[in-house]
Amino acid sequence: MDLILFGPPGAGKGTQAKRLVDILQIPQISTGDMMRAERAAGSELGKQFDDYMSKGLLVPDSLVLELFRQRLAAEDAKNGAIFDGYPRTVAQAEALDGLLSEAGRQVDSVVSIEVQLDEMIERIIHRRSCQSCGQIFHLRYNPPPSQDRCECGGQLVQRKDDTEEVVRKRYDEYLEKTAPLLDFYQKAGVVKAVDGVGSLDEITERIRGVLG
Ligand code: AMP
Repeated sequence: MDLILFGPPGAGKGTQAKRLVDILQIPQISTGDMMRAERAAGSELGKQFDDYMSKGLLVPDSLVLELFRQRLAAEDAKNGAIFDGYPRTVAQAEALDGLLSEAGRQVDSVVSIEVQLDEMIERIIHRRSCQSCGQIFHLRYNPPPSQDRCECGGQLVQRKDDTEEVVRKRYDEYLEKTAPLLDFYQKAGVVKAVDGVGSLDEITERIRGVLG
C-alpha cells in the first residue's frame, strides 16, 4: 500500500506515521526527518536544507526530488510506504506518480488529517522529539517521562522551526503550495478525511477505519 499522510504542520502526520508503520508493516518516508538527519551530519546539502527549513520555507523541488527518489528505491519500500511530509508541491506529486507507476504502483490513499490553525500552533510549540529514537511528545497531551529525556534515555529537543513565528510561515507555505494538492488527489478519488483532534489512539483508529 502507498499511503500519503496529508495535512498542515502539526496535524500529527509524523506521530501517526510512526504508529502505522507497525500496523501496516511498511516504512515511513519523512523527507523532513531525512533533511534533519542531513543537517545534523553537517553536510553541504544539510546546510542548504537548513537555509530554507529555519525560515519555514519549503526546500526547492530540485533538492527534494533526488533525495526522495533514492529513498523510495530502497529495498524496504518495495511493497509500499507511508509518505509523511511528501509530496508538498505539484512537481513532487507528479514525480511520485511517475516513480510509483514505473513500479506498477500508485497512490492508494491520501489520509487528510484536519486540524485548525490555533490547535496546530499550540501543538507545535509544545512538541518535543527524541534525538535518539525519534519519538514525538507533547508536553501536556502526550508527556515524556521527564522534561528533557525520552523513555529510551535519549535527549529531548525542540525543533528549531517549532517557534510560533516560523510555524506561521510554514502554514502560509502549506496553504499556498501544498493544500492545492488535495484537489489533485480528490480528482483521483483517493482522499479520506479524518478529524485530527482527539487522543493519539482515537486518531489512529479513525485512520484505520478510513483505510478499511
Ligand atoms: P516536516 O518535518 O515535514 O514538518 O518538514 C520540516 C521542514 O522541512 C519543512 O518546513 C520544509 O522546510 C522541509 N521539508 C520537508 N519535506 C519537504 C518537502 N517534501 N518539500 C519541501 N520542503 C520540505
